[in-house]
Amino acid sequence: MSNELEEWAFPCRKCQAGKMRLNSVTYITWLGDDLVTVPDFPAWMCDFCGRREYDEDALNRLSLLLSPEAGRPEKPRKPLPPKPDLKPPQPSKAE
Ligand SMILES: [Zn+2]
Repeated sequence: MSNELEEWAFPCRKCQAGKMRLNSVTYITWLGDDLVTVPDFPAWMCDFCGRREYDEDALNRLSLLLSPEAGRPEKPRKPLPPKPDLKPPQPSKAE
């Protein structure tokens, strides 16, 4: 039947003439002051106008990887604040 890869192409939303196909690109982004390059990042590219859309799932995973907390040495744990003394509930005075 039809080429299996064809099923993974969809019409370009920009030019409507080309088809978006999955490619592996090098995704480049800034993380604060650091330039981060991610090789073999899945991206949809139009074979007509060259529009590029990154795979949403991959972007989500990447943003998790690049979250400000990721890759940092573990912070020293804050000592827990002392618990306030819990007073036992006062028995209500029977009147
Ligand atoms: Zn296009």
